[in-house]
Amino acid sequence: MKKYLFGTMPDGKDVYAYNFSCGRCEATVIELGGILQSFKLDGNDIVYGFNKLSHYLEDTCYVGALVGRTCNRIKGGKITIGESSFAIAQNDNGKNHLHGGCEGFNRKLWRAEVKDENTLVLNYCSPDGEEGYPGNLNVTVTYALTENALEIRYEGISDKDTYMSMTNHSYFNLSGLGTSILSQELSINADTYTDVDCDLIPTGNHPSVENTPFDFRRTKQIGRDINSCVTTYDNNFVLSQKKAIFNNNEYNDAALFQGTLGSMNVLTTMPCMQIYTGYFLNGTNKFYDKVTPTSHVSLCLETQFEPDAPSRGESLLRAGEKYEQSTIYIFH
Ligand code: BGC
Repeated sequence: MKKYLFGTMPDGKDVYAYNFSCGRCEATVIELGGILQSFKLDGNDIVYGFNKLSHYLEDTCYVGALVGRTCNRIKGGKITIGESSFAIAQNDNGKNHLHGGCEGFNRKLWRAEVKDENTLVLNYCSPDGEEGYPGNLNVTVTYALTENALEIRYEGISDKDTYMSMTNHSYFNLSGLGTSILSQELSINADTYTDVDCDLIPTGNHPSVENTPFDFRRTKQIGRDINSCVTTYDNNFVLSQKKAIFNNNEYNDAALFQGTLGSMNVLTTMPCMQIYTGYFLNGTNKFYDKVTPTSHVSLCLETQFEPDAPSRGESLLRAGEKYEQSTIYIFH
């Protein structure tokens, strides 16, 4: 594994990058936000990133980052555990909580440890009260490569009851960076999706995908029905029971995404997945100083608990219990 200085934080702390490869896959991960700064399949870039640390510090779109404690939105910036209520950061339009708060895990410096040539382990201890969440939460995320797959494993343990739902916010493109994803193909094993209000907060309804633009049960081009969606795709899908085995473990067979450079099968232990076509992508810094961040040049496939899960008591992590989730990206 190659380790090199990626940049220096405004307070003088050095941020290192770790580059490792196995078979068809090559990954670079930086200590800031545990960000997947680059991922290459057969030598071709298939995620977006920035060349400079300062660009990541200016980024507001979670490019490649680990997102936590809880990804996506929580209504009203309020969580309840038993009799206790906690005010959490309202960093989405001053109303709701988004992606872990004002300074989520994507902004933290993670401690990296090289486990072996193909495995990087990152650790971050989130203190009690951070962004309003209860409990000291010790988080470990492992990036592991095999010949044709990337696994991201999430573990956590808290000393108080808290909520946890982590994801990785990589923007993928399987036909070459800068190309439109509208002609790339996607299937999602989901019979229902999460209905949301105008602030993208779940209404509690789970309509069938049948006869909607959200029907990805059979492979179709992402652009086929996209014009019937208000904000293009930024939706949570409830994964169906279709299972797949990887390394003798069973996972939800979430999605298959295909472009001209290859296809990617997403397996996960999580119950849901958000599809996001980058509607809010913006910023003056170009990806790798080349590609302008804009809608429809990428696809995020964010495995997760359902948005606003804590408001329904879901995604609760009890004190002393271990949080263990995993998402695997397999390339064909
Ligand atoms: C959400 C979007 C949000 C974006 C921020 C996505 O995961 O679904 O609604 O704007 O993250 O980058």
